[in-house]
Amino acid sequence: MPRRPPTAVDQYEALATVLRLVRRNRARTRPELGAAALMGRTVISQRVEEAMELGLLEDADTGPSSGGRAPRRLRFRSEEGLVLSAVLGAAALDVAVTDLDGGVLEHRHLEWPVARGPEETLDFLDGQFAGLLKGCDAARLWAVVIGLPGPVEFATGRPSQPPIMPGWDGYDLRGRLQDRYGVPAWIDNDANLLALGEAWTTGLDDDRHMIYVKAGTGIGAGIVSGGRIHRGSKGSAGDIGHARVLEDSSVMCRCGRTGCLEALAGGWALARDAVTAVHEGRSRFLADIHRAAGEITPADIGLGAAAGDPWCLTAVARAGERIGSLMAALVNFYNPDCLVFGGGAVTGADTFLRVVDHTVRSRALPLASADLIVRALRRGRDRRRRGRRPPRRRGTPVGGRPRGLGAVRKAVGGGARPARGRSLTHGRALPPAPMDARRADARRTDTGRVTHPSCLSRAQAPLEPLTYVCGMHKFPRQ
Ligand SMILES: [Zn+2]
Repeated sequence: MPRRPPTAVDQYEALATVLRLVRRNRARTRPELGAAALMGRTVISQRVEEAMELGLLEDADTGPSSGGRAPRRLRFRSEEGLVLSAVLGAAALDVAVTDLDGGVLEHRHLEWPVARGPEETLDFLDGQFAGLLKGCDAARLWAVVIGLPGPVEFATGRPSQPPIMPGWDGYDLRGRLQDRYGVPAWIDNDANLLALGEAWTTGLDDDRHMIYVKAGTGIGAGIVSGGRIHRGSKGSAGDIGHARVLEDSSVMCRCGRTGCLEALAGGWALARDAVTAVHEGRSRFLADIHRAAGEITPADIGLGAAAGDPWCLTAVARAGERIGSLMAALVNFYNPDCLVFGGGAVTGADTFLRVVDHTVRSRALPLASADLIVRALRRGRDRRRRGRRPPRRRGTPVGGRPRGLGAVRKAVGGGARPARGRSLTHGRALPPAPMDARRADARRTDTGRVTHPSCLSRAQAPLEPLTYVCGMHKFPRQ
């Protein structure tokens, strides 16, 4: 059968493969690229040449010789482009500018209710993006990436009936951003971006499988299969928060249905139950917070669990069991190598992870759970511009004084970082602490899913966006 001549699409894919391999340190020299990509020497040379013309690769030092002349190593030039990104939450958002390798150059965490609708939110984002690009060469902008806290129809980049985003349903976010910035816009569910970010940051091998569970105020998941996000037919794969896990019509969910996982184990549901517990006098810890702040956030419950408050510990354990129970079914179904939990103070609690781990292992098939890793999100690094003053807002808790975690630990009587598996107060009653500091940390932790630099940054320029950007932006259309 005669071989089909290569099309431009083939060339994009070959180029993206070459870039991905160099970028992820899977291959550093041309011979290594040929072996890893299963491409001939001529094709590799052509694609490397193209990448160099685009400014994305350059020759670096020489690699080890295998007998003949030592090959030149290649370097991915992440500084060639900039990516603007934003991850929206219910009450706050994060914006950042990153390089093409996902390194954060500048990041801001800001209070902003997503319920204000798309027009107002995008005007606000435009202002923030302009600030982030100040002093940068705007011509280097490659793409804009937005993560949304709700279902996104991936093919169109439009939110689809997001429960906590009134006014956003069907909004042409991609069109609006592409018109405004003249670059491709990548719109995705935040759990998908976080999953990609985690896979990228931790160097998840291409043949490995992971489920990232974001259990913050709401619950969602991103599925990484063979290094790529599995979105399913429309983009809703992994939306586990609204799976019905209880046949009880009295447990209302914010999506309008009943018995959803989120309505039992989501942060908002835990906070709802916590208020009841306070009124019934079942948690002194939360009663103190409620008296001082007038409300209870999911992160307050995580703090309470860390401080040994019995009600909070039980609530966190029950959430872990409910989530773990559903995850056991998913482990049987999908057989991942790794389950990663992030999204809030609750998921970071030792109790939560212990209960999830036990529940999954006791309910999933032995073969599916034998080598399964269950862990919390890892923290990554950022890559702020050298010589620049650290951004003022970075790490600043919303609505609170910029207190570091160490200061907060000191305030709650813990002092130095506790050893793994031990609570901050080692089971002692929590001494009185400045409420703003406790809540400041709580909020900081609660929004960790979006403020976490590696989550935000690494999600911006993984394999898929790079392929997309290469194909759509820098190359002429076929
Ligand atoms: Zn629901």
